[in-house]
Amino acid sequence: MSVVAAKSVVSIQYTLKNGEGETIDASEAGDPLRYLHGAGNIVPGLEEKLEGKKIGDKLEVVVEPADGYGEVSGPGPQALPREAFEGVDPAPGMSFVAEDEDGNQVHLWVLDANEERVVVTPDHPLAGVTLHFAVEIEAVREATAEELEHGHVH
Ligand code: ZN
Repeated sequence: MSVVAAKSVVSIQYTLKNGEGETIDASEAGDPLRYLHGAGNIVPGLEEKLEGKKIGDKLEVVVEPADGYGEVSGPGPQALPREAFEGVDPAPGMSFVAEDEDGNQVHLWVLDANEERVVVTPDHPLAGVTLHFAVEIEAVREATAEELEHGHVH
């Protein structure tokens, strides 16, 4: 298997920049990002553009927020009492899955934390950011049955 398609495990080297050209994230040399293609392991806008690409291909992909980490939505940051986080040590950048009043699961990201309160937001830290990826495909292989069952790379 040398073409990126559903059920393949893809290794990529990547650099991610924001609209201002600042590097937000990058893979380390010798330690590529490995993901299961077609399983939603990476942002949809990037996954779509990697489809059909081959080992050695280099590409630049611009992903709008809607196909990346989403738009910034309401209700914005909220302060919760520290007691609500029993058993964990919340720190900026951490994320939690919580239940809202209707019993829906929501992702909450920690912006700030001190002894009394923890400030959280439902928006991913990269929500609203246009993502500029530079990607090189290092390897493609077929996923194992177990990886397909789990929906991620082992
Ligand atoms: Zn697994």
